[in-house]
Amino acid sequence: MSSSDRPHLRRRTLLAAAAGALVAPAFAGSPAHAAVPKVYIDPGHGGTDPGAGANGLQEKNLTLAISLQARDILLGYGGVEVRMSRTSDITRSLAYRTDDANAWGANLFVSVHINSGGGTGFESYRYTAPGSGDIALHNALHPRVLAGMRSIGSVTDRGQKSANFHVLRETTMPAVLTENLFIDTLADANLLKRADFITAVARGHAQGIAAYLGLGGTTPPAYSTIVDNATAGRFTASGNWSSSAYSSQRYGTEYRFADPVLASDSAWFKVNIPAAGNYRVDVWYPADPGYNSAAPHVVATASGNQTVHVDQRSGGGAWRSIGTFNLAAGDRDLVGVSRWTSAPGYVIADAVRVTRV
Ligand SMILES: [Zn+2]
Repeated sequence: MSSSDRPHLRRRTLLAAAAGALVAPAFAGSPAHAAVPKVYIDPGHGGTDPGAGANGLQEKNLTLAISLQARDILLGYGGVEVRMSRTSDITRSLAYRTDDANAWGANLFVSVHINSGGGTGFESYRYTAPGSGDIALHNALHPRVLAGMRSIGSVTDRGQKSANFHVLRETTMPAVLTENLFIDTLADANLLKRADFITAVARGHAQGIAAYLGLGGTTPPAYSTIVDNATAGRFTASGNWSSSAYSSQRYGTEYRFADPVLASDSAWFKVNIPAAGNYRVDVWYPADPGYNSAAPHVVATASGNQTVHVDQRSGGGAWRSIGTFNLAAGDRDLVGVSRWTSAPGYVIADAVRVTRV
């Protein structure tokens, strides 16, 4: 018996009493919610349940990437707590997800999914017998996620729908489930492959949740900058780093390369971070089967240097995210490509992009 077939006493009786008290913004108007609001974000699938898969993508990875960034952006507003059903690639039952949110006392629940089955576009769901909180959350979330998507590309609005999904029925708080494009439709998959699209979808979720909660402040201003190895005053490297225009996958007219050696001798990209916050760092390199499989990239974060190893043998000629980092404000050497790796092959320093999320 599937979990969606469970008989349900369900929360609707609980919500009925409170339904009349809600005003816009729905959450802020309710005196019962005077404490710091608790947001539960549920990245669909995970672990042994990959969800849908097509076009080289797996639903469980996309839902986690969107949810982690949505959490980080939401925490940037302040005055909110966020809990997630998972923060890594682990298996969670549907019952775990709703039991955990209910036990924690979440004030709202958002489940993030990717669609499949041959359609295109964005749709979202609330329960078939919604409370007014479900409707208010749905109305706040749907247009903001859609607007985020449309800031990057053309996306069909499939509308706000209702369904008897487990996570919508068994949660005792307002709940919405989003289906963020179709993994098995090429045009949709091509958007889902873009780091800037994932960030825009995450930002839309955070903005919708913040609007529903009536959180003060606004989303951080958009900021994105690219530093190339030829950008004046923003790239430094020792004479051990040579220039090349050999690969057509280069960013700009040339890139730098150096032999690996057991010493740092980093090439540095300098970035002026406008304000403390969370930023995604993307790197661009030309790939070659003979390049380094573990090129160390050092990011100077607010809590110290973090190193991410990049396989430069493949995936070149495009922006590749190496993660989202909390960064302090200020102008400094921010991203370094170190030569310190025991893996063979040239390490490459070409360009970095830093985007506020
Ligand atoms: Zn799903």
